[in-house]
Amino acid sequence: REERAVLRLANVESSYGQVKAIRGISLGVARGEVVTVLGSNGAGKTTILKTISGILDPDKGEILYDGRSIVGEDPSVIVRRGISHVPEGREVFPLLSVRDNLLMGAYTRSDRDAVARDLEMVYGYFPILKERAQQNAGLLSGGQQQMLAISRALMADPQIVLLDEPSLGLSPKLTKEIFEIVVRINRERGTTILVVEQNANMALNAADYGYVLENGRIVMEDTCAALREKDDIKEFYLGMK
Ligand code: ATP
Repeated sequence: REERAVLRLANVESSYGQVKAIRGISLGVARGEVVTVLGSNGAGKTTILKTISGILDPDKGEILYDGRSIVGEDPSVIVRRGISHVPEGREVFPLLSVRDNLLMGAYTRSDRDAVARDLEMVYGYFPILKERAQQNAGLLSGGQQQMLAISRALMADPQIVLLDEPSLGLSPKLTKEIFEIVVRINRERGTTILVVEQNANMALNAADYGYVLENGRIVMEDTCAALREKDDIKEFYLGMK
């Protein structure tokens, strides 16, 4: 699988000072796929995404995108190359309007007409953002801020979206709604998605392929259909036993 991946990590290690957060991660994401990394609190999920998007430089390993290394590139260069990050906790700009938050997502682009079309595209997926376009983003609910963060990432016109824990702080119903729209975006636009999640149930239903992360290491990987049938996953991640 990793051979045909558009995004490929090989033996990637990252740390915060003395704290090793991920230890030899190898994974692959094929073009057009939805891939998930499952793991509990502190497993290293956020660190994987930060390392891909260039916020954190790995100590070791290789990250190839479209066959070229992106290790050491500036985050803005990585966005321009087509990888867009929806950070943990959304990080919308609370004092800017919803519309201006969306336009911030397009800061690397100069194609004004295409940006205007993409604004309408994200309003199509999340009509509430159009209704609230002129309001400050800080006034949105948690779910609406998650919709805004995803939409802001789409405004960069990405090939790949890195999605950090979209379920965080949201009700199961809202989480389900957001995952459904993410899958629609993947199917309709061909956007490749790498989503890290604690909510295994949601992630395994939405994704094609999954990796399980424990203490900074991948301990299991398979199609999501196969992962859902494994006893360990049922017991520890789906709470079914
Ligand atoms: P969560 O859902 O809680 O964010 P996670 O799986 O995303 O969990 P990471 O945030 O990647 O986990 O953290 C992995 C490890 O690195 C944890 O042990 C965490 O305590 C540590 N860590 C994360 N950020 C920092 C930091 N800024 N400084 C020091 N240690 C950190």
